[in-house]
Amino acid sequence: MRPGLKVYNSLTKKKEVFEAINPPFIGMYVCGPTVYSNVHLGNVRTFMSFDVIYRYLSHLDYQVRYVRNITDVGHLLDDADDGEDKIAKRAKLENLEPMEVVQKYTNDFHEVMNMFNITPPSIEPSATGHIIEQIELIEELLKNGLAYESKGSVYFDVETYDKKNNYGKLSGRKLDELITNTRVLDGQNEKRSPHDFALWKNASKEHLMKWNSPWGIGFPGWHLECSAMSTKYLGAEFDIHGGGMDLKFPHHECEIAQNYGSTGKQGAKYWLHTNMLTVNGQKMSKSLNNSFLPSELVTGDHKLLDKAYSPMTVRFFMLQSHYSSTLDFSNEALTAAQKGYAKIANGLKLIKDISWTADDGEKNEKAIKQINQICDNCTFAMNDDFNTALTIGHLFNLLKKINSINTGALKFGEIGEEVFDRMIHTFKTFTLDILGLEEEDRINGKSIISALIEIYKEAKEAKDYDKVDQIRAQMKAQGLVLKDMKNKVDWAYEE
Ligand code: AMP
Ligand code: ZN
Repeated sequence: MRPGLKVYNSLTKKKEVFEAINPPFIGMYVCGPTVYSNVHLGNVRTFMSFDVIYRYLSHLDYQVRYVRNITDVGHLLDDADDGEDKIAKRAKLENLEPMEVVQKYTNDFHEVMNMFNITPPSIEPSATGHIIEQIELIEELLKNGLAYESKGSVYFDVETYDKKNNYGKLSGRKLDELITNTRVLDGQNEKRSPHDFALWKNASKEHLMKWNSPWGIGFPGWHLECSAMSTKYLGAEFDIHGGGMDLKFPHHECEIAQNYGSTGKQGAKYWLHTNMLTVNGQKMSKSLNNSFLPSELVTGDHKLLDKAYSPMTVRFFMLQSHYSSTLDFSNEALTAAQKGYAKIANGLKLIKDISWTADDGEKNEKAIKQINQICDNCTFAMNDDFNTALTIGHLFNLLKKINSINTGALKFGEIGEEVFDRMIHTFKTFTLDILGLEEEDRINGKSIISALIEIYKEAKEAKDYDKVDQIRAQMKAQGLVLKDMKNKVDWAYEE
C-alpha cells in the first residue's frame, strides 16, 4: 500500500502525485560528490535528504535502485568548460597521483556518510569507470546533429537543440537571456555559441587525467557523466533525479538536453532539488570559507562553533526543516536540536524496555482515537513531499503518549494491545528506519568503572561485604576483575 505520496517536481514546478513508471521498481539517481576535497556539512544536508527519501520509498515497499555517482574526473572550475582541473590541482598541491586524491576523498566521503547514518546507494558508479559510455553518448549526439567537433573538443549545440526542444525547461532560463548573461570565456573561439557546453575537451600535454577518444586525447565534460551513468543503470526513462538546488543550472539543464538529444527521452520523470545549508544567510561553501567539516563539528574545533555536537544531533537539526527550505546554521539551533534529539533518544531507550502488560484500565476511545490519528499523521506528513519537519512534530506527540503509558498516567488497558503495538511500531519505524535517527552510544564505560571503584572502596571501608561481593560480581559479568593493591584499587580484563 502506497497511497497518496506527493512530490514537488522541479521540472513541472508542481507538487504531483507520485506515480512510479514501473512499480514496484523505482530508479533514483542523485549526483554524488566531486572527490577533490573533504565533504562539508552543506553537502551532508543534500545527501541526508535523499537518504530519507530513499528510506521512505523503501518503507513504502518500492524496490528502489538508488544510483549515486562519484565525480572523479576533475571537471573544470569555470562551469565545467574552462579553468583548472580541480583534482589535478589538488594532486599537485598534495604531491599525489590524481587517483590517490580521488581515493582519499572518496574514503572520506564514505566515512562521513557512515557517521551520519546515511545508507549507501545500490550502485555507486564513478565517472572514470564510464569513459566508454560517455564517448558513445557523444557519438550519438554527433549523429543526431546536436554536437560538433572543434579542435579536438566536442560541444553540445544548444541553439540547434533549442529549436525543437526547450533548453531551459528546468531552470526556467531563456536562451536569449542566457546569451547576454554569459561572459566571454577563454577558448570561446572553439564554440559556435557562448552557451554551448563541452562534451569532450581536448587535453593539453600537461593535463593529468586524459583518455583516448575518436577526437584525440582528452577528457569528458562534467554534465556528460550523469546522463551516461543514469541511462546505463536506470534506462532512458526513470523515476527520480536529485541533487542540490545549485545543480539545476547548468548541470541538470545540460543533462536533460543530453538525454533528449541522445535517446529522445527526458531521463527522469521527477526532478527533486534540495535547498542549501547556509551560514548567516550565505550558502555554506568551500570557496566562501564558511564551511566546516563533520569532523570539526564533533570536536567543536572551529571558530564558528561554541561546542561539539554529535552526529545524531546534526541529523535531527537537518531533518527538522523541510528539504526544500534553506536551513541556517547557528549554535542556538544546534543546541535546541541537541535537546530535541535527546527526547527522541530517550524514546528509543524507553520502547526497548516497555512491553504490553495487561492491567485494569478500561477502554478509552478518546485516547485510542488520538493515538491512531498521530500514527496516521506521521504517514501523511511523509507523504506530503517527505515533510520530515512535520513528522518529527508528530513523533513528539506520540512520545507523550508512550511516556504516559510508562508513568502509568495512561493505563495499558485503556488503549488495548493492538493500539499499543501500533504506537510503539510507528515510533520505532519512523524514527529509526525512515528518519535514520538511531540511539547514540554516549555511555563512557571507563568512567562508569571508575565510579563503581569508588563505591567499592567506600563499601570496603564500611565493611559492607555484601555490597563488595555484589560489585565484584557485576564486574565479573562484564568480563572484568577488581584488583586490590596496597595503594589503590584497579581493574583488569579477566584472563
Ligand atoms: P559537490 O561535491 O560540490 O558537487 O556537491 C555535492 C552535493 O552537495 C551537490 O548536490 C550540491 O548541490 C550539494 N551542496 C553543495 N553545497 C551545499 C549546501 N551549502 N547546502 C546543501 N547542499 C549543498
Ligand atoms: Zn550530476
